[in-house]
This record gives sequence, structure tokens and C-alpha cells, in this order.
Amino acid sequence: MFFKQIQQHSDNFSYIIADEISKEAAVVDSSYNADEIIKVIKNERLKLKYVINTHGHSDHTAGNTELVSIFGAKLVAHKQSKMQYDLAVNEGDTLDVGKISIKIIYTPGHTTDSICLLVDNQKLLTGDTLFVDECGRTDFPSGNTKSMYESLFSKLLKLNNNVEVYPGHDYGIKPSSTIGEEKRSNYTLQPRSLKDFIDFMSQP
Ligand SMILES: [Zn+2]
Repeated sequence: MFFKQIQQHSDNFSYIIADEISKEAAVVDSSYNADEIIKVIKNERLKLKYVINTHGHSDHTAGNTELVSIFGAKLVAHKQSKMQYDLAVNEGDTLDVGKISIKIIYTPGHTTDSICLLVDNQKLLTGDTLFVDECGRTDFPSGNTKSMYESLFSKLLKLNNNVEVYPGHDYGIKPSSTIGEEKRSNYTLQPRSLKDFIDFMSQP
């Protein structure tokens, strides 16, 4: 698998996932990284099939128009997203990129349209739901702390400890992690009741 994390002008991460045989590719969160993404796609002679959005916030979707106009890729978003998209996805759906399978995990909380992407059961792209050493904010419009609790504790933390975590922003001490490491060291993921988690998240 070709897999590249890209960070150019901000703390936003973009990702390029491609099948090395068929050259089919997907970009996750174009963000402010379109220039670098275009360069990599051209250098590697990839065929961009999807631009997948972990949610509709503009810092994650900023490069969409440019990528779609150059490569004609399909914009993918959760079915509840208010952004423009060509293909709606929901919990349990799978997108194929060559031989690579990208499974959609619906993880509302940061926004109602937040999804995480599990790539070949080994890499988890977490958008603004989970960061290295942090979790996403729930105090923006359409944020919901109870949903965040369920997304983190009932979905993401149920994945295998060796699943790699690739977040939407460079907020931690390193650019990626694993579910097991985050369980151990991420202070937002320490065992809490729902009530305690809501109290914890409402602290300034
Ligand atoms: Zn966001």
C-alpha cells in the first residue's frame, strides 16, 4: 500500500492512500495541502478516485474544489453532511481503492457528519474525533459530548490495540500513534462514566 501523510501550510494533515498495482488512489481531507497532494499524485502517476472528507469543517475541505477540477475524483462524505458531495457513506460501508478496502466508521460527536476510516483493518484515519494525546472538541455547532463518548469508547477503543491512528491535526507529541498507545497515554481516553466524561469535556 502507498500511504502518505501530508502537512504543508497548517497543522491540518491530509492523507493519500493508493494501491500500488492499479494506481487507484483516495485522498482523505484535502485541507490546505492541495499543492503538495497534486505533486505527489502526478509524481506517483496515481489515479485519484475519491476525495473523502472526515467531516465538513472548512479546514478539512479547503482543497476539494481544486482536486476535483484537476482529477475528476468523487467527493465522499457522511450522508448527514451539509457539504456538497457525490457519494454518501454511512456506518459499515466500504470503499474500494484498487485492492485496498476503506471501511467507514460513523463517529459523531465533534460534528454529526464525522466519520473515521479504517484502511485494510490496520490504519485508522480519525479526522477531528481522536488526536494523538487529545480528542476532538464537542462545543462547535452540531457537536455532542454524549455522541463523542460513544464514538470513542464504544467504537474506536474496541479496535485492536495495534491499529495505527492517523489524526486530522498535528496536535500531539508525534504525528501518529496506535489505539493501544492512546488507551494508555491519552488523558481524554481514561476510563470514565458518561457523566464524568461530560463534566470533563465541559471544563475550560
Ligand atoms: Zn473539525
